[in-house]
Amino acid sequence: MRNLVLFGPPGAGKGTQSAFLVDHYNLVHLSTGDVFRFNIKGGTELGNLAKSYMDKGQLVPDGVTISMLEAEVDKHKDANGFIFDGFPRTEAQAKALDVFLEKRGDEIEAMLALEVDEEELKKRLLARAETSGRSDDADPEVIQKRINVYNVETAPVADFYKAAGKFKAIDGHGSVEDITNRLVEAIG
Ligand code: AMP
Repeated sequence: MRNLVLFGPPGAGKGTQSAFLVDHYNLVHLSTGDVFRFNIKGGTELGNLAKSYMDKGQLVPDGVTISMLEAEVDKHKDANGFIFDGFPRTEAQAKALDVFLEKRGDEIEAMLALEVDEEELKKRLLARAETSGRSDDADPEVIQKRINVYNVETAPVADFYKAAGKFKAIDGHGSVEDITNRLVEAIG
């Protein structure tokens, strides 16, 4: 199995690049943000809980997020591998993912970290708000909060994969195609 973590701050292009990579490598795309939004639309208990955090730009608690992610992975028994997009976002999530995959005789192959400067992130998120309908993209205060949460709580997760020799930094500036080419080269 080929399991990749696509990492980076909000607006780095994880969703956009995942769409290409799943086709190219025949993988399952698993975005925790997408699963939460799906649940919010469906008015489920999980959706209502997630919304209360997402609207404020905060992380949904680890326990809920990890159980949800594991249930999603279990739905795809025949997968060739996964692209994890927006997960793990904390060290506890990264550790839980390793334990969970190990039980299946599996592991993460690499973390691909899209690096984009903060001004560019804010521009991209506000532009995305025009079409995404995401309230957390439309409010500059929530955007700033999400970037701060990323810097404080999520960015250190990279160290976990660096220690395992699995971290690859990718320049996330430029055209979608340029970034895709860099990713494909890094994946090898
Ligand atoms: P995203 O679609 O990845 O930008 O995520 C949107 C929001 O969903 C985030 O701001 C968080 O509130 C929540 N979320 C998504 N993934 C996670 C995660 N792995 N851990 C905690 N919260 C998450």
